[in-house]
Formats: sequence, structure tokens, C-alpha cells
Amino acid sequence: MARKIGSRYTAHQILGRGSAGTVWLGDGPEGPVAIKLLREDLASDQELVGRFVQERTALLGLDHPRVVSVSDLVVDGNDLALVMDLVRGTDLRTRLDRERRLAPEAAVAIAADVADGLAAAHAAGVVHRDVKPENILLDMEGPLGPGGAHPALLTDFGVAKLIDTPRRTRATKIIGTPDYLAPEIVEGLPPRAAVDIYALATVLYELLAGFTPFGGGHPGAVLRRHVTETVVPLPGIPEELWQLIVQCLAKAPASRLRASELSARLRDQLPLLAGMPPLDVDEPDSEAEEDGYAANQANPAGAAYGDLSQRSAGPDEPRRRGAVPLVPGSALDSSRDTHTSMRVPAPDELAGGARGTARAPRAAGQRRPGSARHKSDTVRRRRILLGGAAVVITAALGVGGWLAVTDDTPETAPQDTRQSSPAQP
Ligand code: ADP
Repeated sequence: MARKIGSRYTAHQILGRGSAGTVWLGDGPEGPVAIKLLREDLASDQELVGRFVQERTALLGLDHPRVVSVSDLVVDGNDLALVMDLVRGTDLRTRLDRERRLAPEAAVAIAADVADGLAAAHAAGVVHRDVKPENILLDMEGPLGPGGAHPALLTDFGVAKLIDTPRRTRATKIIGTPDYLAPEIVEGLPPRAAVDIYALATVLYELLAGFTPFGGGHPGAVLRRHVTETVVPLPGIPEELWQLIVQCLAKAPASRLRASELSARLRDQLPLLAGMPPLDVDEPDSEAEEDGYAANQANPAGAAYGDLSQRSAGPDEPRRRGAVPLVPGSALDSSRDTHTSMRVPAPDELAGGARGTARAPRAAGQRRPGSARHKSDTVRRRRILLGGAAVVITAALGVGGWLAVTDDTPETAPQDTRQSSPAQP
């Protein structure tokens, strides 16, 4: 079922569907292309069409082997389409779904490729804003790299920025996943280049562990973890690689590495990782964690909190990834609402905190009494309470684009500063 897109392109076959539209295999004057046809509701939005044209230069300007280039934009009647390089392969999410976790060498090689693409984009003043496995394509026709990894390319540049407008955040639904959102976005600050580094470190952690560092459970709980929790160490990877991940998951954007340095330091790690099998770890139980959170809330003085994060679990006790203070040794700051109101920890504090207070994941296969199968009514009731608490916290944090406001929002809603924010040099 061929379909004309503008005067120059023909779409033949659907390659995949994403949140912003459908990607087609197509033909253009210069051969095969991938055509992303934006959803109808997006294509009929005059404001978006205007910005689509305005952003033309930024969208078309990126030319790098680790970036899926956009070669043309089509605005034709009801069709709004991005014409891209065709990548013959799969996206990283599909590979992760199949394999659950990758061998460290392949994971790091993929992350280094993506860091190269980000370095080029950031140098051109473009922030991606939506780095996640779905937006990383693996070129199966490219040469095999370290660990048997195919070259990875970052796609969907500029799309998050295009479709994320204050007006659009009025939809009464949750869009996408909060797992890769940097804490400064949760707190309403404009996204700079460092948000992409945080998201990439999250992807790397996920490739190694099989789960994201702060994901699981209610979206509000995920957002809270981004702001307040330290990352759970992954046993079995070289210390230097772990420190890179910790640094790039730092709460303070300025503490994270730049993309070019991250790429170089990841590649330095590759020889150490050769032949290492995928890690054998189980995901911490987010239910238990939410129980721990409830305990913390019941004891804002921080006594239970300290207990949870420092004490070793007994043999029959559930192991918990409890929330920990951002600054080691400080009490839980339950009234915190913005980054500007908290002391920004130094990189060594962040690293130390992560090592010192976070809990190790369970050994593979080890089940806990708090797992879904053994959930008691008490736990269920607590979770309902937690759901409510998480929503309140989320609202207080002012998560633009996550939990939506209704169509009654006045037109004087604050403008999205992201539209004009340049990338961090
Ligand atoms: P999402 O909105 O989830 O990021 P996309 O709309 O970008 O997803 O893409 C949907 C699917 O289409 C991807 O998972 C991928 O398999 C395929 N795809 C996207 N871009 C390309 C491309 N340039 N070449 C080949 N396949 C692509």
C-alpha cells in the first residue's frame, strides 16, 4: 500500500510506530529513506507546523555518523513528515526486550556511540531531551564493534522539543516513561545538555542491569527517586566504570561529564570488559521501596530513614532500596521543592553517598516475602496511600509534561522556556 508524501516521497511499508507517529520505509529522489509521519493531531496543530518550519535548520543541520540525519521536512496538506536516513536494523529497546541485559563490553560500546552523537549535537547547540533505548537504533549492516555490538545511532532529535509545548501538556494523560528524566527537569528547570548525559547514563545502567536505576511503580514515585535517591551499585563491574555512571547520574547537572569526555572514558573501559558475561542481578522490589518510603514519611525526623539506608538486612528481612538523603549524613528534607533550596553535593559526596548508602540488588532469583505473590492487605492499603502521596509530591514538584493539567488551563500559562534555551556549551 504505497502512499505519496509530498511531491518527492513514497511510503511503502510501516517500519514501526512511536509516540509521535508512524515510521515508514519509503523512497525519495536519492533512494530509500525512513519517513516519520507525525500523528494527525500533531500535524493539524498550526502552532506546531509553524515551529516545524522554524526549527528546520536545527533539525536538518545535524550530520554525524552516530546521529540519524533528517534530510527533509514535508508539510503537505494534513501530512507532516520528517524524512530520515534509513537504518537497517532494530532499536535498542527491541534488543533489550529480547536479551534483558547486555554483556558489559557491548553495553559500553553502544553508550559510547550515543555519547559521540550527543557530543556532535551539543556542539551544535542541540539538546536531544529524549534519550532512551527506543530512540537508539542499531545498524545491523554496519561493522561489528567491541562485544559484537552493531553501530548505534541516536534518532528523534528535535522531536521532543517540537511536540512538547505548554498547550500540549494539557492533555489529561501521561506521555512516555519518566525513567530517563533528569532531576532538574522534574524540578521544572530548563533542559540543558546535561539532561542527555543523565538519560544516557540511565540507559547504560539499564543495559548492564536489565532495569533502570530509578524506575518501577507509580510515575510519581519514579520522579521522586530521581530527585532524592542515590543509585544502587551494580556488583561485578570495574570501579572506574561504576564511578563514570555515578558521576553522570549526579543530581547536580554541572557534576556530570560532557558527552565527548564520557565517550572517551567509556572507550577506555572497553579492554577491561572484553569477554565479561552479562551481570547477574535482580531488580530491587519497588513495592518494598515504597513501603520504606511510607515508613520514612511516618518518621520525618529521619530515624527510620537512617535505619533503612545504613543497616544491613537480617537473613529473613527484605532488602530495600530505601530513599536516602542527597547529602550523606543529613536528615530527610521533606519540605524540599527545588534544587535551589538544597545544598548541591560535591561529586565526591555523591559518589561516596552512592557507595555508602544505597543497597545492593538481590542476588538473581532470590525472592523476598514482600514480593507480589505475598502481598498482604496492609501492603495494598499502604500502596493506595502512597499512590496519593506520590501524586501530591508530583504536583508539588511541578513536573511539566508529565502529569497533565486540564484544558481549562488559562492561556497565560507560563511559557516553556525550553523552546529558547541553548545547549550548555
Ligand atoms: P518512538 O516514538 O518510540 O521513539 P519512533 O517513532 O522514532 O519511536 O520509531 C518507531 C520505530 O520505527 C522504531 O522503534 C524503529 O524500529 C523504527 N524507526 C525509526 N526511525 C527509523 C529509521 N531512521 N530507520 C529505520 N527504522 C526506524
